[in-house]
Amino acid sequence: MNHPMTTMLHGSVEMPMHGLGVYQASDGEEVINAVAWALEAGYRMIDTASIYENEDGVGEGLLRSGIPRGEVFVTTKLWNTDQGYEPALQAFDASLERLGLDYVDLYLLHWPKPDLMADSWRALEHLQREGRTRAIGVSNFEPHHLDQLMASADVAPALNQVELHPHLQQQSVRAADDELGTVTQAWSPIKQGRVLDEPAIVEIADRLDVTPVQAILRWQLQEGIATIPKSVKRERIISNGDVFSFELSESDMEAMRSLDRGDRIGPHPDHIDF
Ligand code: NDP
Repeated sequence: MNHPMTTMLHGSVEMPMHGLGVYQASDGEEVINAVAWALEAGYRMIDTASIYENEDGVGEGLLRSGIPRGEVFVTTKLWNTDQGYEPALQAFDASLERLGLDYVDLYLLHWPKPDLMADSWRALEHLQREGRTRAIGVSNFEPHHLDQLMASADVAPALNQVELHPHLQQQSVRAADDELGTVTQAWSPIKQGRVLDEPAIVEIADRLDVTPVQAILRWQLQEGIATIPKSVKRERIISNGDVFSFELSESDMEAMRSLDRGDRIGPHPDHIDF
């Protein structure tokens, strides 16, 4: 992976724009290998969550890679049933314990919980002040959730991780994030594989001699969107990380932008029942 791009969180914490997602990677050898292969291939960011039940394996993969802790950016997330001030502090401790780390780089509220998120956010602000997480952010926040959070927050979220791929380009969320200086990060950036046969994407990929996945990830990076494609397969991990040696032209970017159709694969954050 040549010339990985980075961005700044809270104006001071450097974060790679591209990393490995590990949702649905099984704890044990599967996630350990995925993390170790990604780090070997040059990835320097890993995205997990307590609900993925693989934080142990992520920590093990970090160790197995031999890469110094300070060179890897690790994100984990507070699950919905742990929202609230004290529960959030306890859940954070449990995540650190499973990861085998003494700090994480980024801790996120996994989903908005309108009745509890102000208290949860106070806990995250406390953890950041203590240096136990270098940055704090949110996930699946619509603009109105950001407004609600900011009504009582001391610190704006450094990052908002949302479903984002060519079929769901999240213009209003991105605009709200930009106003707060919040980095937008794409989850399911390749729509879990369900956008790879789009003719416009295939055309761009063939012309640039890259894969449709690489074309999509490159589009996100050029849009200023951080991205965390998941794979547990070594060859795919390597190929998905090889996105720094080509560029999409402005007309390719426009072609990608024209694919937006507001099509979600996950739940709408206003209608979650978990
Ligand atoms: P992705 O869009 O990253 O797609 C992953 C799927 O695509 C897997 O089935 C993977 O299979 C397959 N795949 C990967 N690379 C290729 C390739 N080159 N060619 C063909 N297929 C490929 O989906 P995710 O939902 O996993 O999202 C990415 C990450 O975002 C998650 O892992 C997680 O970290 C985060 N996330 C966050 C959420 C949130 O609420 N905050 C919600 C959902 C995800 P295989 O592994 O077999 O290669």
